Amino acid sequence: MSFLLMEAGGLPCYCSPLLAAFPEVVHGFFGRGGGVSPEPYHSLNLSFAVGDQRRQVVRNRTLVQQALGLTALASATQVHGCQQALVTAAPAAPEEIQDADILISGQPGLGLLIKQADCQAVMLYDPVRRVVANIHAGWRGQVQNILAEAINSLQNTWGCRPEDLVAAIGPSLGPCCAEFRNFRQEFPPELWSYQVRPTYFDLWALSRDQLLAAGLKAPQIDIAGICTRCRGDRFFSYRRDRHTGRQGAVIGLRGD
Ligand SMILES: [Zn+2]
Repeated sequence: MSFLLMEAGGLPCYCSPLLAAFPEVVHGFFGRGGGVSPEPYHSLNLSFAVGDQRRQVVRNRTLVQQALGLTALASATQVHGCQQALVTAAPAAPEEIQDADILISGQPGLGLLIKQADCQAVMLYDPVRRVVANIHAGWRGQVQNILAEAINSLQNTWGCRPEDLVAAIGPSLGPCCAEFRNFRQEFPPELWSYQVRPTYFDLWALSRDQLLAAGLKAPQIDIAGICTRCRGDRFFSYRRDRHTGRQGAVIGLRGD
């Protein structure tokens, strides 16, 4: 289903219709608009690691947290690995959980923030177990099948059944712009079939297929289908701008 462009607390954000159907869940795929940071981080930069001033990032994070009505936001230093963190409380900004690309929580009021500029944020929700996950899936994570790692963990730790899970793949690098000239070195041969024209790959289809292979049902997977590199008016893009900010994707269980 195509994502809905909404406004939350004055901040433009995209929402997945599948996730929006659950009133106990709050989520938003934010873009670059509505924040306080100056160029080249204009304006809703949520990363402490790109050279923006700390107080501006803290302010932007507060805006996002308030827009969604959450009591806290938790984020991690993301390292393109498959490490996960079970989040029960958020460290106070600018502190972040160390080195995790999978965030999982069942704590109401707590938002899980993934920062990106072309990488995918993939959100998962289990309406039976009432647990949310947010995953930083760049191509390095996809090569390691980070989505399967996250789903394994939800099964083993939370007793989730993959067929119950709902997934949303956010705005990210599209097949129009995902060029990998060294794909023979970077991707294993089983991923070469995602090449849509010479050296360009459909990483959205790859994530969808990895979710299906992990046991999700096709109608429960939402893909924004919006390319961050093409849409400079709305999104940060590392490929396009190099020195730039990071937008945020947040999911959490609604607080009391
Ligand atoms: Zn594009």
